[in-house]
Amino acid sequence: MSLNKVYPFSALNNRCPRCREGKIFKSNKAYAKGNLEMHENCPVCGQPTEIEVGFYYGTGYVSYALTVALTVATFVAWKVLIGMTFDIDDNRIFYWLGTNIVILIALQPLVMRLSRSLWLSWFVKYEKDWKSKPVEQPERINKDQAANW
Ligand SMILES: [Zn+2]
Repeated sequence: MSLNKVYPFSALNNRCPRCREGKIFKSNKAYAKGNLEMHENCPVCGQPTEIEVGFYYGTGYVSYALTVALTVATFVAWKVLIGMTFDIDDNRIFYWLGTNIVILIALQPLVMRLSRSLWLSWFVKYEKDWKSKPVEQPERINKDQAANW
C-alpha cells in the first residue's frame, strides 16, 4: 500500500480505523460466502479487529439504527414520489411496507459489514504515526478462544 492512499471515510470503506489503509474484511464482496470473515489483525498496521471477547455483539444496535434510518428514508421517499394516505381505500402504504422489507433484506449484507466497520471505528482511533507507534494489544481477550473462533 502506498503512503498517500489514506481513506478519509475509512469506516465507510471497511478500512482499519487506526491506519485507514488496511481492509478489515477478508473479502471485498458483500454478497459472497464468507462476507463477514474478518482479518484477526489489520494487514497493514496490525491493529486487532476483535478488541474484546464478544466485541461485535454491539453491532446489533448499529444495524438496528441503520435499518430504522433506511426505513424512514424509504418512507419519506415513497410519500414524496408516490404518495400515500391513511385512507381505508389507499393501499399504497402496504406497497411501501412490502418494498421496504425487500430493500432491507437485500441490503442486509451491506448493513452488517458497515455496522461492524462503524462499531470498530468508534473504539479504535486514527493514529497518525501508526508506523512508528506500537499497536495497543487488547487486554480483555482470550487468545486461545480467539484462535479457535
Ligand atoms: Zn490498520
